[in-house]
Amino acid sequence: MSVIAPRILVIEDEPSQVEILRFNLHQTGFEVQVEMDGEEGLQAAYEDPPDLILLDWMLPNLSGVEICRRLRRNPQTREIPVILLTARSEERDKIRGLDIGADDYITKPYSIKELIARIRSALRRPMASIVDHKLIVGVIEVDLEKHKVVSEGVAIDLGPIEFRLLVTMMQSPERVFSREQLLDLVWGISAELETRTVDVHIGRIRQALAVTKGKDQIRTVRGFGYAVNCHIPPGSKVFS
Ligand code: CA
Repeated sequence: MSVIAPRILVIEDEPSQVEILRFNLHQTGFEVQVEMDGEEGLQAAYEDPPDLILLDWMLPNLSGVEICRRLRRNPQTREIPVILLTARSEERDKIRGLDIGADDYITKPYSIKELIARIRSALRRPMASIVDHKLIVGVIEVDLEKHKVVSEGVAIDLGPIEFRLLVTMMQSPERVFSREQLLDLVWGISAELETRTVDVHIGRIRQALAVTKGKDQIRTVRGFGYAVNCHIPPGSKVFS
């Protein structure tokens, strides 16, 4: 049985960093592709989507932030885990990192050991399973054709916005979505207004799920946003 090594695209312009990353990732058993220019890095990701992208913040021609935004807008690259490498350690920048849709961020100087641990965990991120048009995460099951939601075998009544919001989050289980991202993805508004709207609709989803353990699958991440948990809450009735 042959094992295919995960392919990592490194977009980093500092030659010394590139060499350290290339050597260590290769030693760990990853296949490595390096691009030292922002524009070329983005093109490389579009042309042959890798399993994960290590993305530097400051790059010539196109910033890491802009690259991440564009990756998330493209259906071909939307699901690729992105770890943002940044020399800035201010909290505000970390939050911005999450807002643009990075899965993780790591501050320079970092330990290679830690970076590899983060890469492994990002690669293990659970995927949503879709069987017969049904999207299943934990105890929540969504029929994408009939627009029906079932939690622990109980039919759940959701409005159209709540339905789209839940499906959006369930498509990337465990990923933390900021309110801005959810506004953009669900409502199609990229402005920074009315982020509280998201809280209101999340509240309605929780209320609808309240009679089941499905409510425990919607996690609030303080200061960031929301995620749908993948694990099945203890004591759940699981229907198949
Ligand atoms: Ca740089």
